[in-house]
Amino acid sequence: MNFEPALSPKVESPPSWLILICGKQILVSQCSTEVLFPADSIESLNIVFQHRLGAVNQQHLDAVVIDNTEELSIEGWEWANLRDLLGVLHEPLFHLAGRALQFSYWDKTHQYCGQCGGATIPADEYRSRMCTRCELHFYPRLSPCVIGLIHDGKRCLLARNVRHPAGRFSTIAGFIEPGETAEQAFAREVREEVGVQVKNIRYAFSQPWPFPGQLMLGFYAEYAGGEIQVDNIEIIEADWFDIDNLPQTPPESTISGLLIREYVQKVREQK
Ligand SMILES: [Zn+2]
Repeated sequence: MNFEPALSPKVESPPSWLILICGKQILVSQCSTEVLFPADSIESLNIVFQHRLGAVNQQHLDAVVIDNTEELSIEGWEWANLRDLLGVLHEPLFHLAGRALQFSYWDKTHQYCGQCGGATIPADEYRSRMCTRCELHFYPRLSPCVIGLIHDGKRCLLARNVRHPAGRFSTIAGFIEPGETAEQAFAREVREEVGVQVKNIRYAFSQPWPFPGQLMLGFYAEYAGGEIQVDNIEIIEADWFDIDNLPQTPPESTISGLLIREYVQKVREQK
């Protein structure tokens, strides 16, 4: 599948494919293999929001939001939360669905201007909504986050978030604050959550996380000193783990799982 993003979100010609959204739910085939729905199989819909995402194999693809799942009941398709499709749906389709969901969430939460309270309208030529009174533009909201693996030779420092079940450990993560570089943000999050110092913070790769609009920037960092001291707010447990004796960690469909897997592979190759 080849996806080419549209330069403008304006729907100027009929789409071939739709990603259908209602609230936080997305229409998916019952075997969870498909989210691209053929546009010509729908006669009429009460559309709340329509936005051109781009083209799939040179055929137009739109995100379409409706406000009642009962309006669209099609055999072989069902409504599902995108989060439940992580690691189930083929990755390029998951990211397309995530893109559609983020645009729909942005549209829904930016109907009024934060500066003057005026109503906003889509600014057709840009991916933005514009205030009809003061003309301020509101772009799709992305929240940059840092996430990283702290390592010390064969050991990794992993932590258990308060929301995770006992025995499940992950990497350290948090939102970047205004004025920070991503590296500074990661060092601060590490200090706050597990109390240690890190050095040689190196960017690895990123992952969009559409719940509701994070961009996860993945890092590796070397342990530089300090004793583990958890904050007991976000992190309730943290420890060093040998790469040959890791606890339960997130799946590789998440950036955390991928950071851990790649580090383990790298250390094993160096042996
Ligand atoms: Zn305004």
